[in-house]
Amino acid sequence: MAENDYPASWYAATRDESRARTPLTAREEADVAVVGGGFAGLHAARLLARQGKHVVVLERRRIGWGASGRNGGFVGAGYAQRSGALIDRLGLDHARRLYAQSQRGVAIVREAIVELGRPDILMGSGKLSVSRTDQGAGFADRTRTLAGQLGATFEPWPAVRVREVLDTRRYHQAIHDPTSFHIHPLNFALALAADIERNGGRIYESTEALESTRDGTGWRLRTPNGSIRAQHVVLAGNADLGAVQPRIARAVLPVATYVAVTEKLGTRLGEAIRWAGAISDTRRAGDYYRVVDGDRLLWGGRITTDTNEPPRLREMMRGDILSVYPQLGEVRIAYAWPGIMGYAPHKMPQVGEIEPGLWVCSAFGGHGLAQTAAGADAVASGILGDPARWQLFVPFGTGWAGGPAGRAATQLAYWGLQVRDWWDEKRQAQNAETLRT
Ligand SMILES: Cc1cc2nc3c(=O)[nH]c(=O)nc-3n(C[C@H](O)[C@H](O)[C@H](O)COP(=O)(O)OP(=O)(O)OC[C@H]3O[C@@H](n4cnc5c(N)ncnc54)[C@H](O)[C@@H]3O)c2cc1C
Repeated sequence: MAENDYPASWYAATRDESRARTPLTAREEADVAVVGGGFAGLHAARLLARQGKHVVVLERRRIGWGASGRNGGFVGAGYAQRSGALIDRLGLDHARRLYAQSQRGVAIVREAIVELGRPDILMGSGKLSVSRTDQGAGFADRTRTLAGQLGATFEPWPAVRVREVLDTRRYHQAIHDPTSFHIHPLNFALALAADIERNGGRIYESTEALESTRDGTGWRLRTPNGSIRAQHVVLAGNADLGAVQPRIARAVLPVATYVAVTEKLGTRLGEAIRWAGAISDTRRAGDYYRVVDGDRLLWGGRITTDTNEPPRLREMMRGDILSVYPQLGEVRIAYAWPGIMGYAPHKMPQVGEIEPGLWVCSAFGGHGLAQTAAGADAVASGILGDPARWQLFVPFGTGWAGGPAGRAATQLAYWGLQVRDWWDEKRQAQNAETLRT
């Protein structure tokens, strides 16, 4: 496989035909130059191109090659940081406006799918966030109160309702969000890119932005065989930005997570999972999954700061699936792949203007399909002269994520959280056993 080929995945196997675009080999001028051809860069470029700006996108490999072409495909409001923590930190009014911006991101994705004329990209509706521990009698009231505070559409489901659609004893209550949906992310990225070009934008693949320097009132980006001068530059490179802006690159921690897709499982999958929406559990690094292609299970999970692919990835993913749905029996994994999420220490995206004309739109963590659209919308409206939306993100600066020491600390914290999740489940199971005897 050539370095820039899409890694083997179910998405790559079912992707739309898309020719490789040529690298940049000249000096160009643009209103806005975007670094990164993932959802953050693509949404920003598309929103601006549709407003008449001349945009150029630089992508080191291929469109959607990074997290945007490999993820779980869940689109929903909120952020990687929990809403309760945002209310505690920023107060209700600010947290509510941030949440509304993420809802705007959901709407942008939904509208884009319609505008692109690609209803097939939308693969199912609704999302269940299931709990592996009993949340107690106050769960429904707490959930409704939080939804009311945020202006959110999610609602509590009791365990009995969860078990009507998911045949496993692992889960208790759930939060159901009817406005969430799930998509084919790689085909969405490719369709967004084609629309940027229809709106007069240019995209160069196999082109790394190596350096950004001030040039008069604008900026110049240097690439291996060319350069771009633009009034505005948007850095949307996620956790792999490189030398083009070391300060931003250092502020985003790469965290790996994995997805597997099974062989076709036949009717036994529909007997175990009678739900066409997305499902994730609420542990700190929980499972997330959905049914695709009629009777395949797309299963994501685990996080680690070691970005190398584990040698026994398929066995690990199969074990995770069977620990929740043992009745599936013989499950063969057809595809398994890693992907890199970008986290800032505060678990919120980095969105805003860091120097005049230099914008960042990054660090969307594990919750980025709607949030990249929300961040891109905030940056695009900022470039068009309205600072209100990106200023919502000002409390979350671009501080250092800690380099290798930060990775080690994150890994330790993750293991600690896993132990806590395991212990919570174990303790509840033991208590239930004591009550029964
Ligand atoms: C396995 C996995 C599962 C996930 N599941 C979900 C999910 O179900 N729902 C959800 O909401 N989120 C999910 N996420 C998170 C979500 O995918 C990301 O937050 C989102 O795609 C990030 O988009 P991005 O554009 O910031 O980054 P990316 O998609 O990584 O794009 C960045 C691009 O920039 C390019 N680039 C970087 N530096 C340069 C440079 N100097 N020059 C040129 N190009 C450069 C890279 O090659 C890359 O293509 C998941 C992530 C992973 C990895």
